[in-house]
Amino acid sequence: MRVRPPLPSLGDLRGGGKRLVASALSAVETQRGTPALVALLDEAARAAKAHVLGLTGPPGVGKSTLTNVLVQRARAAGQTVAVLAVDPSSRRTGGALLGDRARIQTDPEDRGVFVRSMAARDRLGGLSDDAVAAAVLLRAVFDLLIVETVGVGQSEADIGLVADTVVLCIQPASGDSLQFMKAGVMELPDIIVVTKADMADMARRAASDVSGALSLAGGAGTWTVPVIRLSAASGEGLEDFSAATTAHAAYLAAEGRRAAQRTAQEARWVEEAVKVRFGTEGLKRMRALPAVTGGPFHREAAIAACLTGG
Ligand code: GDP
Repeated sequence: MRVRPPLPSLGDLRGGGKRLVASALSAVETQRGTPALVALLDEAARAAKAHVLGLTGPPGVGKSTLTNVLVQRARAAGQTVAVLAVDPSSRRTGGALLGDRARIQTDPEDRGVFVRSMAARDRLGGLSDDAVAAAVLLRAVFDLLIVETVGVGQSEADIGLVADTVVLCIQPASGDSLQFMKAGVMELPDIIVVTKADMADMARRAASDVSGALSLAGGAGTWTVPVIRLSAASGEGLEDFSAATTAHAAYLAAEGRRAAQRTAQEARWVEEAVKVRFGTEGLKRMRALPAVTGGPFHREAAIAACLTGG
């Protein structure tokens, strides 16, 4: 039997550089449910450090280009940053819609940037349990975490499993804004970006379409969703975007919203994980179990043990 390398501690990860982070992320995929990994993940879940920006949108909208720019800006501001790109193709089919990590260009010598892509597995565009666990680890180590997903249906909602601020990217003249309006009551993103603003007229039209749809939808919360025209190519709109993310972070920090949002996210991770593994019937049985306490990863393992009779 192959002996597993010991898991690094959270302190090691914070001080130890990219190779340790990479080995912990590999452990997420190879040591699922082991007590040591569960303990590390729950510790990391309690020790969140990064603001988590979730970028979602259709392929080709400009997410990676924007991510590259955001990484450079974060580094220039002295922040460490991690990027988790969730590829909607499953590992089995081996395709790559989102592409590989080569799409995000970073200096390999820079210890303050970490980029990783992960398969979404069987949930097209959605976040796998492993991606959630990876996000939890990266969030505890870096100052900023950008999670990139391809927006195909479910994933707009799924990005909300891990992101503090959900950014929906749409492209001018692509019909995205129409789709958005049709979806009507989709879980609203926190910020909408109309990309490629250098395609000026079309970008303006898309932005006004979306703003119109938003005012009709009339979100239930107290946050007003800004619609920002942005060009990663020319830099136009980047300051507005930074201001919007800062404002949203401040909004979350007030009145305990961030803590409440993260608690709700954790409850959803457990439910999603149980549902993926045991189906709707398993979820029903989970709800009938006595409440389990502790961190989300411990809860998930304990519930799985109950459902398998372990
Ligand atoms: P992703 O699939 O959403 O990650 O999209 P990419 O970032 O790979 O961008 C898709 C294409 O759009 C590429 O050819 C980019 O060069 C182009 N693109 C991205 N941002 C801009 C922009 O601000 N202006 C223009 N004109 N093209 C852009």
